[in-house]
Amino acid sequence: MQEPVPRPGILDIAAYVPGKETAPGVAKVYKLSSNETPLGPSPKAIDAFRGAAGHLELYPDGQATELREAIASVHGLNTANLICGNGSDELLGLLCHVYLSPGDEGIITEHGFLVYKIQIKGAGATPVVVKEKDCTVDVDAILAAVTAKTKIVFIANPGNPTGTYVPVSEIRRLHQNLPPHVLLVLDAAYAEYVRRNDYEAGIELVSSNRNVVMTRTFSKVYGLAALRVGWLYGPLAVIDALNRMRGPFNLNAPAIAAASAAIRDQGFVGKAVEHNLTWISTVTEELEKLGLKVTPSVANFVLIHFPEVDGKRADEADAFLTSRGYILRAVKGYGFANSLRMTIGSEEANRGVIAALTEFMGAQQ
Ligand SMILES: *Cc1c(COP(=O)(O)O)cnc(C)c1O
Repeated sequence: MQEPVPRPGILDIAAYVPGKETAPGVAKVYKLSSNETPLGPSPKAIDAFRGAAGHLELYPDGQATELREAIASVHGLNTANLICGNGSDELLGLLCHVYLSPGDEGIITEHGFLVYKIQIKGAGATPVVVKEKDCTVDVDAILAAVTAKTKIVFIANPGNPTGTYVPVSEIRRLHQNLPPHVLLVLDAAYAEYVRRNDYEAGIELVSSNRNVVMTRTFSKVYGLAALRVGWLYGPLAVIDALNRMRGPFNLNAPAIAAASAAIRDQGFVGKAVEHNLTWISTVTEELEKLGLKVTPSVANFVLIHFPEVDGKRADEADAFLTSRGYILRAVKGYGFANSLRMTIGSEEANRGVIAALTEFMGAQQ
């Protein structure tokens, strides 16, 4: 029998599996699997969301003007160089569909965000995976993988699930050595959390070049993951091409209103960043005391590596933590067979995970 057949490549895609949300039979669950903020969104964002409820019969502003103006004013950018997306995921997908053809190659890194691979394949192109070094993006490995077919390079900086970052000098060196027709995508989903002098999200590099874009999200420090809002800063020619391809009303009105209020409330962001800085160092130190290896992270999560010892492996830790209501993220799909990623949560959640892992690591097998 004849039936509709997807384009070549589509059925090779392994669908994205989000972080677990539940722990069956456990009364209180702490979801630390998706890098959501324990502080929630700014109260001003919630007010704006409620305000939008009075006008649900109206189409949203297809240009998300209010939001692009808010982003432009907070970051000192030109609104014409901004496009908003239904999560930065949508923008990552649009980039692939606009810039990749079948036969083209897109470079991604060993432990890179899985959405890149999915979208490259979705565009009929070929993902080329390059090694990382010490869980960190390796600029030389990327440059060595560039061929005449390369059209796009994706880097998450900081990386997910590693939490490591590449200093701006290395990002510049990468860019200088890429052919000018290759688009460099800097995914800075966790930029707000980074407190390092040698880190830059990419604004400067985008401003002075025609082949670099930076993506950002409201899903992490802004606490608006449910609303699906991301943005991209890029050269006018890239913005123009993406605007032709996107859905005409890709952001909904409550999302535009809430995100606009959220980004204007930088005081709230500061509190979320402070909470994270305090707890990421405590969690890292306490887990290291237990003999666990933790990759140094500048984001809002840590990657925890478990011993290659029966009874102490990541799978077993995952089951133990889940039975206590602590839901972490298994990261096998990212090339870490014996590790778990833990989002920094509330004080109660963080202390709970430390206590549970103390028990897990101490238990006799
Ligand atoms: C969470 C995350 C995003 C954000 O995705 P949204 O679609 O904006 O929710 C993008 N890139 C990376 C690496 C992430 O971890």
